[in-house]
Amino acid sequence: SRIPRIVILGAGYGGIVTALRLQKQLNYNEADVTLVNKHDYHYITTHLHMPAAGTDKPDNARVSITKLIDEFKIDFVKSTAVQIRTQDQKIVLEEGTLSYDYLVIGLGGEPETFGIPGLKEHALNIRSINSVRYIREHIEYQFAKFKREPSRTELLTFIVGGAGFTGIEFVGELADRMPELCKEFDVDPALVKIYNIEAAPTALPGFDPELVEYAMNVLRNKGVTFKIATAIKECTPDGVTLATGEEIKSATVIWTGGVRGNHMLEEAGFETMRGRIKVEDDLRAPGHDNIYVLGDCSIVMSPEGRPYPPTAQISMQQAEVCGHNLISQIRGADLKKFEYKPKGTVASLGRGEAIGIVGSRKIKGGVASAMKKIIDLRYLYIIGGIPLVLKKGRF
Ligand code: FAD
Ligand code: NAD
Repeated sequence: SRIPRIVILGAGYGGIVTALRLQKQLNYNEADVTLVNKHDYHYITTHLHMPAAGTDKPDNARVSITKLIDEFKIDFVKSTAVQIRTQDQKIVLEEGTLSYDYLVIGLGGEPETFGIPGLKEHALNIRSINSVRYIREHIEYQFAKFKREPSRTELLTFIVGGAGFTGIEFVGELADRMPELCKEFDVDPALVKIYNIEAAPTALPGFDPELVEYAMNVLRNKGVTFKIATAIKECTPDGVTLATGEEIKSATVIWTGGVRGNHMLEEAGFETMRGRIKVEDDLRAPGHDNIYVLGDCSIVMSPEGRPYPPTAQISMQQAEVCGHNLISQIRGADLKKFEYKPKGTVASLGRGEAIGIVGSRKIKGGVASAMKKIIDLRYLYIIGGIPLVLKKGRF
């Protein structure tokens, strides 16, 4: 019989770890595996707040895909998928089509703007290498522009919408970058303003209140102004309007207000919630016994019946089970149930500072910052071994 074809869409945390697992465990000629990704590199999304603020180089947040996978075992196709056709088991790419017997969807998320007017058009997002290079250049440009038009102090106001983990990690880096930019462009640091605006009654809603308090104090001391329990209602080229009616003028709005699943899932006719597919226990899409969905494209419910937050951590754990289940399915064996084992959460607050919960322990400050580095290095080790740790690691 014909060799089954597995297509993996997206080489993010879910896609790359699935590919690595398959290349390790599939026997010769057991399946043809094709990995499709928009770029020829994998990006380390969990580092993107740094190149976005300009505190690290974009190249440190990406790895060439052909350096990670064995091209004798996995075909890599650099292309953008535009349509998933479950009816005839085909993927339409920007150039050509691919047929699959088994599909893995790991396309990641997209910014969720909740229909707030102007956000799509005028706000920037921390999503990819290209988007963070843009943010970094844009910020530098505002400093340069201010020198030509010194009355326009709003050019030195930076607004970050949403104080979830992405917003909090980004304002930490942004605050660290400001002294350097002020020096480079001869700008009075007192003119720079960083606002982090959050709709919920607290920053990092749902996280440990004591650690949230600690994080906010660290960030305030670096010059961040919080506006909590204040929703952004509209974004224009000139700034934002808040639910309170207040307007803040700024040429830079970075939206970190949430993520949804890839738009292609809805278009393909899957039932979705905020663009995501609620997967079965074995990670397959309901009604499709040959389609696995991972990471930010999927929803996994906790035993308490709440969706787990979409993270790199859960994506990688899903990928291990997805790889296992694909091989089992091809061999006619039983599939495993996915059970998420949260290891904790550690978030950076910029140089030398972080907060986190590891197991049941709360950590903060230098200890948490060191832990964050270890987590980052561990990931590099999982996907690329010691050589990648030495090449891309920040020690
Ligand atoms: P992604 O990693 O987003 O990868 C999707 C891939 O698909 C990309 O390579 C993309 O180029 C590709 N792709 C997209 N569309 C197409 C297309 N049409 N055709 C072909 N390819 C396509 N989580 C944690 O657990 N810990 C953290 O510390 C952490 N820090 C974060 C920091 C920041 C700044 C951000 C933004 C997120 C952070 N997260 C963290 C969340 C985490 O990054 C995401 O949950 C995770 O990246 C989701 O993985 P994924 O495999 O679903 O997709
Ligand atoms: P998120 O959904 O977790 O946070 C978005 C925040 O924006 C929320 O607090 C929300 O209340 C706020 N918001 C929504 N609408 C708003 C409005 N109109 N005005 C003001 N604020 C508004 O999104 P995220 O921070 O991008 O995180 C996405 C996922 O990635 C999460 O699961 C998160 O846990 C994960 N992540 C983890 C880490 C880490 O572990 N270090 C870092 C970054 C992201």
